[in-house]
Amino acid sequence: MGFRITFLGTGGGRHTTMYQTRCTGGFLIEHDGKFLHVDPGPGALAQMQRIRYDLTRTDSVIVSHCHPDHYSDAESVIEGITRGGWVKRGSLYGSRTVMEGSGGLGPALSRYHLTLPERTRVFEPGDVLDVDGMRTEVCVAKHSDPTNVGFRFDTGNGTLSYVSDTEYSDEIADQYRGSRVLLLPITTPSGNRIRYHMCTDDAISFVERVRPELAIFVHLGVVILRKGPDAQARMVEDATGVRTMAAEDLMTLDIGDELRLGKAETHEEPWIPDSAP
Ligand SMILES: [Zn+2]
Ligand SMILES: [Zn+2]
Repeated sequence: MGFRITFLGTGGGRHTTMYQTRCTGGFLIEHDGKFLHVDPGPGALAQMQRIRYDLTRTDSVIVSHCHPDHYSDAESVIEGITRGGWVKRGSLYGSRTVMEGSGGLGPALSRYHLTLPERTRVFEPGDVLDVDGMRTEVCVAKHSDPTNVGFRFDTGNGTLSYVSDTEYSDEIADQYRGSRVLLLPITTPSGNRIRYHMCTDDAISFVERVRPELAIFVHLGVVILRKGPDAQARMVEDATGVRTMAAEDLMTLDIGDELRLGKAETHEEPWIPDSAP
């Protein structure tokens, strides 16, 4: 049945998000016929329209933390999961800030939307989630939303890890040892470290410690986009010998015996799916 990730967005940070220099829609995981949407920020809905993905097929959504580049389209995604709010189905997973609000952040979702899915769960580091049959481990992050976490997804063909927004530390990197594919939020380029985020220099340390088969930059900020994210990724590959690339919007990755990269098919004509009333 397979495992595919589709990158709806590859931007991150407030300026990329404001200007939609890159989309910030998070990513879709298809695993054994089930669909999980992770971090549906601004642009997620527009991208799903472009690739003619009917979001009523989505089974679950994860919102890692309470920053708009990760949550702003989540209410519509929940409406998709629940077929316009009429069918109680699916699962919503979120940090405490997203679901309840904490420390001046959130909640990110209205009370109404929180009641729509069949299951809702607040996660914490150390939790192991069963996301429609996919084992998902929750890891520690160090970010300006202190309830943020990262994830290790068991693809059936190795671990795909999504680190989500964090500073670098050896302890944070070590949680992802054994990952086959590593999605790293690299907000800024080399020599440009900002608090609570990672730059290319941090990516070198991270990749050196984890040594995955493939490392992919996501959550690209405007400064690294200006600099050229491909060249920044190549710096990591040259320094570590590990295959490293910068993701592009609507890129796909199939994880099987081999890793296969592709591009989702796009359509410019507006589309109304059959499932719409
Ligand atoms: Zn972010
Ligand atoms: Zn953030």
